[in-house]
Amino acid sequence: MANQIDIFWVVLAAMLVFVMQIGFLLLETGFTRSKNNINVAMKNIADFAVTTLLFWLFGYALMFGVTTSGLFGITEFMPELDVNRLDQAAFFIFQVMFCGTAVTIVAGAVAERVRFAGYMLISAIAAGIIYPIFGHWAWNGINLGMATGWLSSMGFVDFAGSSVVHSVGGWISLAIVLIVGPRIGRFDAQGKPQHIPASNLALATTGAMLLWFGWFGFNGGSSLAFNAVALRAFGNTVMAGSAGLVMGMFLGQLIYKRTNVDLLLNGTLAGLVGITANAHAVTLGQSVIIGALAAVVMYGGQMLLERLRIDDAVGAIPVHLCAGIWGTLAVGIFGDLQLLNTGLSRIDQIGVQILGIIVCAAWVFGTTMVIILVVNRITPLRVSPEDERVGLNVSEHNERTDLLDLIDAMQRQAETGDLSIRVPVEPFTEVGMFAQEYNHVMNNLEASQAEAERLREQELEARVAVENARLKSEFTSMITHELRTPLNSVVGYSGMMLMGVRGTIDEDARTMIQSVEDSGKHLLGLINDILDLDKLEAGQFTMHPAPVEMRRLVPEWMETMRVLADQKGLWLDAHFDAHFPTVMTTDSERITQIAFNLIANAIKFTDKGGVYMRLQTDATTWTLAVQDTGIGISAANQALIFDRFQQVEGFSQRQYKGTGLGLAIVKLLVEALGGQISVHSIIGEGSTFTAIFPLDSSAHLGRSHE
Ligand code: ADP
Repeated sequence: MANQIDIFWVVLAAMLVFVMQIGFLLLETGFTRSKNNINVAMKNIADFAVTTLLFWLFGYALMFGVTTSGLFGITEFMPELDVNRLDQAAFFIFQVMFCGTAVTIVAGAVAERVRFAGYMLISAIAAGIIYPIFGHWAWNGINLGMATGWLSSMGFVDFAGSSVVHSVGGWISLAIVLIVGPRIGRFDAQGKPQHIPASNLALATTGAMLLWFGWFGFNGGSSLAFNAVALRAFGNTVMAGSAGLVMGMFLGQLIYKRTNVDLLLNGTLAGLVGITANAHAVTLGQSVIIGALAAVVMYGGQMLLERLRIDDAVGAIPVHLCAGIWGTLAVGIFGDLQLLNTGLSRIDQIGVQILGIIVCAAWVFGTTMVIILVVNRITPLRVSPEDERVGLNVSEHNERTDLLDLIDAMQRQAETGDLSIRVPVEPFTEVGMFAQEYNHVMNNLEASQAEAERLREQELEARVAVENARLKSEFTSMITHELRTPLNSVVGYSGMMLMGVRGTIDEDARTMIQSVEDSGKHLLGLINDILDLDKLEAGQFTMHPAPVEMRRLVPEWMETMRVLADQKGLWLDAHFDAHFPTVMTTDSERITQIAFNLIANAIKFTDKGGVYMRLQTDATTWTLAVQDTGIGISAANQALIFDRFQQVEGFSQRQYKGTGLGLAIVKLLVEALGGQISVHSIIGEGSTFTAIFPLDSSAHLGRSHE
């Protein structure tokens, strides 16, 4: 392999293999959660650099240096590129890329829970010791066209590394996931596997395609020359990848009744891994079978891992280990014996392939287990559960993302129940838009919560008010009943004594008994007023609207009240305006109560002149006004007299008996009839009380007081 085109081909292939690093990066970040994506990406790029340096330092020497009994190499430490042997220089570059690939497989399997530093240590051990030693056994001498490793000298064939690269990566992965354990939440308490969502399957798909692209160099370049073998390997790689994809698709339909993304992508990669060991020695038809079966083997491996509760974050073990074993075995089953050129019969070839598979398992899995168990004892590889929850982007690199900030704020809200928390809005990003909408929702939620709170309070207040009213009327009716009975006896007996039932009584005794009777009557009046008021306020006062002939009713009032007016030498008169209707719908008993109250007050507070009642109508209302020529009410007092127990201070209280409840009752009665009452008064000249009612009061009465 000395000609320029061969060298160019190998260098080009090396570059393609590097592209696989990008493929792995995208595939793994896409398959895992975004809270870990930065960490996954960092591991992918960093392991390449670490493995490259170590492979140059001593890995390459162990793998391709002059052998000691086919076990390990002892020359070529820190090799320099020899300008006189460009083919060897190209070979070194190509192998550096290979080593990177083997190691980077591990990053995917152990993703989302292994410390960055721990992963770097694993990479170093893998690239420095584990990979090169097995590589020596299988590949030592290939750059010189010889088979000098102990496995290859027995006829073991692994063209581009189904075992050397992929199974090695897979076995290391398996050992480490066993040591660090599954991600939190991957298996539930009963051990049932739970789906941990992928963050970006389009990205994972791009990654798979880049891997496929890089694989052309991985397999095609392994011929180490631009020849028929290279082209056959290239062609078989295209076919096997496609067959793996279609089988993955088919398995998805069969098992999940839909195209399962994991199976489709990992099916493709399994197909590629499967063809890797034998790409140079099979036909296109065989490559299709190998690729398709590789996808089936991959699915079987995946099922087995789940059954054993082993968590591989991206399916790296089923793809690289299981399909790698299959590909290595397929060399013996399908490989053209002529092309394999080992001189073995098919059975023997299969036998040595199986031996290689077992040796690979024992060396790689065994060594990794021993070393990593010790390392893990000294410094745990796994992050703390809290860090795992937060995500490795933050815990390992202190890199936040807008999404993470959003989730944090939401979690804080969930924990505190504080609806006033708003999430940070990063403008111009999708997450930012989402955050903004979330804040809108929170605004609305908070507002409606406040409104609900307000309504609840209102309802409570209303309920308390109703309960208070009930207690109050119960109390009132009890008290009044208890008082009325003895008061009736007081009034009755003192009246009888005044009438002389118990014989004549002297003047002093008469004055005293008269006072007893007056006080008793006053108290009875007060009790009746309180009862009326209470009923009115509780809305229990039933109105009985009916047609009333006012022109007959009013003269009756006049006749009754004239006795009082005559006692004080006052005139009393009533006047209807011309249009006043003969029949009016109102409650005759209540309107009488109103009129008596107003006329009695007018007489009580008038000493000369008289009292005059006027009844008027206009288009929509009718008016009952009582005017007197009495003492009048000051403006300040006019505002108060309709309140309970309000009597104008000073002389009137002593001079004129009363309870201070009359006008409060009148006002409530007027309102119960749908009307309004007002007073107009001038001190020393007299007062006018005016009650205005709607003409058609029946509707109003029916509504509020029936
Ligand atoms: P009372 O039973 O004490 O009369 P009211 O509620 O009927 O109670 O009246 C309250 C107060 O309003 C009276 O004490 C009186 O001072 C004043 N008042 C009522 N009507 C008149 C009126 N026609 N002229 C002057 N003052 C009046």
